Amino acid sequence: MNQNFDIIIVGGGAAGFFTAINIAEKNPKLKIAILERAADVLQKVRISGGGRCNVTHACFEPNELVKFYPRGEKELRGPFHQFCSGDTIEWFEKHGVELKIEEDGRMFPVSNSSQTIIDCFLKATQKLGVQVLTGQSVQSIFKKDSIWKIDTRNHQFICEKLVLATGSNPKIWDMLQQQGHAIIAPVPSLFTFNIKDSRIKELPGVSAQVSVKVKDSKLASTGPLLITHWGMSGPAILKLSAWGARILHDKNYQFSIFVNWLNDIDLEEAEQLLKEIKQEQPKKTVAKKSPFEITNRLWESLVLASGISSETKWADLSKIQIQNLARQLTNATFQVNGKSTFKEEFVTAGGINLKEINFKTMESKLHKNLYFAGEIMNIDAITGGFNFQNAWTSGFIVANAI
Ligand SMILES: Cc1cc2nc3c(=O)[nH]c(=O)nc-3n(C[C@H](O)[C@H](O)[C@H](O)COP(=O)(O)OP(=O)(O)OC[C@H]3O[C@@H](n4cnc5c(N)ncnc54)[C@H](O)[C@@H]3O)c2cc1C
Repeated sequence: MNQNFDIIIVGGGAAGFFTAINIAEKNPKLKIAILERAADVLQKVRISGGGRCNVTHACFEPNELVKFYPRGEKELRGPFHQFCSGDTIEWFEKHGVELKIEEDGRMFPVSNSSQTIIDCFLKATQKLGVQVLTGQSVQSIFKKDSIWKIDTRNHQFICEKLVLATGSNPKIWDMLQQQGHAIIAPVPSLFTFNIKDSRIKELPGVSAQVSVKVKDSKLASTGPLLITHWGMSGPAILKLSAWGARILHDKNYQFSIFVNWLNDIDLEEAEQLLKEIKQEQPKKTVAKKSPFEITNRLWESLVLASGISSETKWADLSKIQIQNLARQLTNATFQVNGKSTFKEEFVTAGGINLKEINFKTMESKLHKNLYFAGEIMNIDAITGGFNFQNAWTSGFIVANAI
């Protein structure tokens, strides 16, 4: 059975739906279909943001927004000038979904439920006559006489313009490679670090504002770090995992990090401060109370790791002990052995080589009438709503171009 459409979108995820709806709204006469391999569409949207769907981020300047994308920073600058996070808010509002900003800038539907986004998309496709065909796993795509032919297991579909929005699906990447596209090999991004170390073993739940560096690399980040049962997590670590996705993969997730628990106080300053505290409160017990903005429990652990007993008074601290403590505070080395998933949320770094995409239209530079939207491209961001913003922006641009 042949099924002819003007436009076929492969992938019933965030990018696929957003593209389809925007095309249909601009061109109500076009015959449009979404082909989805699973029985259900929008499955990642459903589980996203802990079931609340972190739709976008309250960062409204394209030049600022791009900074959250380890891959895609340069290429997304133009697209964000066409459709940015402010446009996302407006778009959803127009479609009956109000978004709210949380303290950290993440934006969610006011309902706190990803179902609101799913309902919005399903209602819109239904109203616009977009056909959503599930159970259609695309097996091959090929072009003949400027017409795209798409084979699923039991159907052949034909269309003039083809949009691929299949996320990080290796099968589609293989097909694109056969069509001459270069695929940047996929590696995981957004993960936490596994660390077994006596200094943090008893401290799950403790957090601090830190700066972290990866040994033998230029990778560095600042922000909150959270100690977990397995090691370290929190924005400072997740940022490193995103920016270092490829480097850390190449190290087989075995590497050392240097943590400065005092964030912007360096070794010399810390040593000086410790000497001053020694003068000011000689009779007090060192381990008892943190003189810095780290918790008493973390402070005590670092004091003990510096070879200072729990009973030692400030007056009795030797020069070596002060130097050790300053080093533990500002340049503590930890060995990372492996990674874990962050709250089940992850993205894949890798995908279609960005050099082969025209970012004014999201069209392939190799094949006319072939477009891309979402995570299928070698674009990904840190956690916070930025990955969906890529899906919305690229989908909008495809629709505009078509
Ligand atoms: C647990 C989790 C939580 C997340 N939470 C957030 C969040 O809150 N905010 C945020 O910004 N990002 C979040 N992300 C990342 C975000 O979900 C993705 O970046 C986003 O879904 C990418 O959208 P997409 O449409 O490009 O791909 P997908 O959402 O992966 O959609 C691709 C679709 O294509 C279909 N498909 C694949 N191959 C074929 C084929 N051969 N034939 C037919 N169909 C096919 C798939 O079944 C799928 O439905 C989260 C990710 C995870 C895993």
